[in-house]
Amino acid sequence: MPDPVIIATWPFGMTAVRKGLALLEAGKAALDAAILGAQAVEDDPEVGSVGYGGIANAVGVVQLDACVMDGKTLGCGGVAGVENVRHVAALARRVMEETPHVLLVGEGARLFALEQGFRLDTLHTPESIAEWEKSRPRAGREGRDLAPEGTFPSDSHDTVTVLALDQTGSLAGVCTTSGLAHKRHGRVGDSPLIGAGLYVDDHAGAGGGTGVGEEIVRVCGSMVLVEAMRAGKSPQEACELAIARVNAAAVRRGVHPARVAFIALDPKGRTGAACTKGAKFEYAVGRKGKSELHTARETG
Ligand code: ASP
Repeated sequence: MPDPVIIATWPFGMTAVRKGLALLEAGKAALDAAILGAQAVEDDPEVGSVGYGGIANAVGVVQLDACVMDGKTLGCGGVAGVENVRHVAALARRVMEETPHVLLVGEGARLFALEQGFRLDTLHTPESIAEWEKSRPRAGREGRDLAPEGTFPSDSHDTVTVLALDQTGSLAGVCTTSGLAHKRHGRVGDSPLIGAGLYVDDHAGAGGGTGVGEEIVRVCGSMVLVEAMRAGKSPQEACELAIARVNAAAVRRGVHPARVAFIALDPKGRTGAACTKGAKFEYAVGRKGKSELHTARETG
């Protein structure tokens, strides 16, 4: 069996990797390690794009998106546009385990959280309110200040996507985010959508994304890269292929490729990562007791 491995997006993904690696090395399942790792980021008020302290949308409300997937069974669940629930990755797991459904949204997801015994919380911190006040769109109508499609101006976004391989050789993944800063109320990105922000299959590999979700959804990014691994590509080649799809879609629409990145992990424990030009994407990898930050290859 391979050594356990865990990979997560962005430097703050290091929190998830450290926590998750310890769990994997203690023999925990990939899904538990990925969710508890992601939860440590959801709990960190200093991460302004995930969970507690996440950036608010255009009308000042924090709406969170998340999904989970188990590579052994292809079990999956997601929640989108959820308010007042901090641990949305764990909530997505409940959707997977406690309902016959795959995705719950908005008020329905919040009521389900209550039913499942989740605590309702404020997700704002004094810092996140101050940040929102400083940077919010000011001219009139909601959403009006967003740049044209695919060219969102704000860098205030970043999902924690976590992929894990456990001691039994099984894969799992999690995405959790507050999404794009100042997003339209009700806007949903790639992160809760299976096949877009995340896809995991023990028979092929695990893939996940971060960045401007519309561009990831447009090409079903994570599905593309997992299918590339199934066809024999390495995780690195698969990530580059998915970024090439994002780039090609931008060309067809006459826009510059937005900031998008993918990570991948295969059943042998090999990892990969790639991003669009200028995205400056760093990610964390943990294996054999060590956690390290890497810089992804920009693919033009
Ligand atoms: N993918 C997220 C979204 O579009 C944001 C991010 O990862 O930066 O909501």
